[in-house]
Amino acid sequence: MTDVSHVKTGASRIKKVRAMDDLLTAARTGFAHHFGTDSNGVHHDPDGVWSAPGRANLIGEHTDYNGGFALPFAIDKRTVMAVRGNGTDTFRVASSLFDDVVAGKIADVATLPRWVTYIIGMAAVLDSDHPGGDARGADIYVASNVPLGSGLSSSAALECAAGVAFNDLWQLGLNRTQLAQAGRRTENQIVGAPTGIMDQSASLKGAADCALLLDCRSNETELVPLGFAAEGLQLLIVDTKEEHSHAANGYAARRASCERGARIIGVPLLRDLTEARLPQVRDLLDDETYRRVRHVVTEDERVLRAVAKLRAGKPREIGPLLTASHNSLRDDFEVTTVRLDLVVDTALAHGALGARMTGGGFGGSAIVLCDAKRSRAISEAIRAAFENSDFPEPTIFPAVASEGARRDA
Ligand code: ADP
Ligand code: MG
Repeated sequence: MTDVSHVKTGASRIKKVRAMDDLLTAARTGFAHHFGTDSNGVHHDPDGVWSAPGRANLIGEHTDYNGGFALPFAIDKRTVMAVRGNGTDTFRVASSLFDDVVAGKIADVATLPRWVTYIIGMAAVLDSDHPGGDARGADIYVASNVPLGSGLSSSAALECAAGVAFNDLWQLGLNRTQLAQAGRRTENQIVGAPTGIMDQSASLKGAADCALLLDCRSNETELVPLGFAAEGLQLLIVDTKEEHSHAANGYAARRASCERGARIIGVPLLRDLTEARLPQVRDLLDDETYRRVRHVVTEDERVLRAVAKLRAGKPREIGPLLTASHNSLRDDFEVTTVRLDLVVDTALAHGALGARMTGGGFGGSAIVLCDAKRSRAISEAIRAAFENSDFPEPTIFPAVASEGARRDA
């Protein structure tokens, strides 16, 4: 992937349009190659092309499963899906990344390769709520430029692209909240990843130049204007290339700590605890559990403060909140890595306004908020720091808050 952090806005818009055109072309070409002609020589076009973006989380990490607040946004990297209902009970799926066609029925979803379960799993969840009989199979080709396993939620992009496609094709009439819940169930019950609803919400409900305030207890969402470009600011994403996929145990352990903390304190969710009450509960908990709890409670506060700053038209002032979030994830929640810390420390040392890891941690990506005119120097400093530490070169690109899942053709 090319580093475009220094490219001026006009050129970057052209680049973005080209990237989307390339993805649409790749989806159509892949579909034509694998599914365009049937065994009788009959030609088939896809019924449509749908896409959904990956996401980055501006602030509010490990708060979703505690019923708290998160502030993610949809990024301008998308997973595109060309789909045709094939009138049988079988799904046939191929991806630009895993080119062999995988065929399977909804009932077989547990036995299929993992990557396919995000798509057929979504079909299974939707079909269990809205049974459609034996003719719901589809031919599906996937093309994507969302990096996999980088903490940018390529998995939600895959589920949500499938979700909007099936919703249209099967005329289910589901709203975005219902589709996000179906995506979460797919991830939790079929893929087996105990994630919250943040990723699917951002992928489905994101909008250009906006973040999405997510109340993970009520599931209410609200768009919050970012206005970075108007203030001469740039948000960068730094993909450390450190795969976070091995992190399942760490993630589950953090969830368990939070649940234990809430149980001992006697609140339904850590969301229900305020920062003011923290000193009172300290003696109830062992040191580690207390620190996990403190991260979640202070992080909820930071999200609300960041939203207030953004609403007041002061995006520059969220910088220190981003950095405080990272420090809390490093010291209290212990989910950062040497590489994530290196990105943050280097960015701050070179004039960033704030920086933090984004996503669940244990690897993945970080975000950096800076004056646009500093972005090139900061990117170079991060690359140099990685080179000095013998880490593979990170990929750095501007985070442009973009539109959520949609039908493209
Ligand atoms: P993340 O969501 O942070 O990218 P996950 O481990 O949750 O990481 O999801 C990554 C997995 O999602 C991949 O290993 C693969 O199984 C699946 N996946 C995502 N995008 C695609 C794609 N374009 N084609 C095939 N599989 C994909
Ligand atoms: Mg994921």
